[in-house]
Amino acid sequence: MNKSDFPIFTNHPELVYLDNAATSQKPSIVINAIQDFYEKSNSNVHRGIHKLAEESTILYENSRSTIAKFIGAKPEEIIFTSGTTESLNLIADMLGQYFGTSAKTKTILLTELEHHSNILPWQKIADILKWKIDYVNIDNNYSLDIQDLDYRLRTLDVSIISLTNMSNVTGSIVPLEEIGKLVKSKSPETLIVVDGAQYVPHHKIDLSQLPEIDFYAFSGHKMMGPTGIGVLYGKEELLTKLNPTKLGGGMISKVEREHSTYANLPEKFEAGTPNISGAIALASAIDYIINEITEDDINKLYNLTQYSLTTLLSIPELTVLGPQASENRGPVFSFSIKNIHPHDVAQYLDNDNIAIRAGHHCTQLLHREVFNLPATARASLYYYNEKDDIDKLIASIKKLITTFK
Ligand code: PLP
Repeated sequence: MNKSDFPIFTNHPELVYLDNAATSQKPSIVINAIQDFYEKSNSNVHRGIHKLAEESTILYENSRSTIAKFIGAKPEEIIFTSGTTESLNLIADMLGQYFGTSAKTKTILLTELEHHSNILPWQKIADILKWKIDYVNIDNNYSLDIQDLDYRLRTLDVSIISLTNMSNVTGSIVPLEEIGKLVKSKSPETLIVVDGAQYVPHHKIDLSQLPEIDFYAFSGHKMMGPTGIGVLYGKEELLTKLNPTKLGGGMISKVEREHSTYANLPEKFEAGTPNISGAIALASAIDYIINEITEDDINKLYNLTQYSLTTLLSIPELTVLGPQASENRGPVFSFSIKNIHPHDVAQYLDNDNIAIRAGHHCTQLLHREVFNLPATARASLYYYNEKDDIDKLIASIKKLITTFK
């Protein structure tokens, strides 16, 4: 991988981009894929019999196959959405509809690490079904407390557990295999939904090796793809049982005056004209990951994670809110600095051309109830970051601390 593959860095040579957990930068191959589609192949998918319609349908369906192969799934198990948020809303709504006839009060289990996108859709469903919501705690190392999960599985009637694969705040990685086995051994009927928004961009996920995981959501834009495209994976046998919540053109088999029948998987979940260029460009981003992100790039990012952690931890005024060792954590560092508001930190760093994020990062529960802080500053890395970026970050933070003293 070459940093020069990313035009944003040519246009902003001074930029130190450390806001990758919010969105990643895009290589030319992805940007060109969008332009190429509109210049050479633009047509709607699935409904035409002219050549361009056939071509765009093939490109769109090939993209689905690329994505399916990348995560160890079948093409029929890949539903295109606009991103993780839509994927989680979709699965929550579909399960809500599915369980709508069950009179028994059950629990939807979430964790303290969850992003608002993995809380609000479930709160809506719990309200409709008159179910309960409960949360698995995190431990002193900001990781999911497996014993607490075990306890809740034993004491609650958990119908659905929805949890992140990697926190966008603490960087903690949630051990899916262990959790999947634990959940299904204690409660075989419990459905497991995973928010993979932060995990997929940095890690290989092979869902064929994780048979306990029922649904998995992620976004294209955090893994070098464009905005407005994402994926909901669902096990074929489960998707077959669910009904779509978005209805209209492109997802039907037969329409009659009073009733209609739906198309097969995955079309039945993709009503309306989809984001065709987005799907094609996401497949380009995946090709880029497969072909250009080498073992060296992966090791470099791991070493940079270690280096960032060590250097951040060496600043006495700074607290890292996340695992203090680089094992089982991703390259996301939320921190607070004594007596300096995170917004001031981000503003000051921006003056040095360092882009980080400040706020609650869509995790108000985690910030308010666990950290007891309204906000933190967050630096997050991706494959194109260099040691020099971290050195600039650390130098700017130290300068800021001296200035505010
Ligand atoms: N889940 C996590 C852990 C995230 O970090 C994000 C985005 O920041 C989301 C969900 C929502 O993703 P999107 O905005 O792409 O729908």
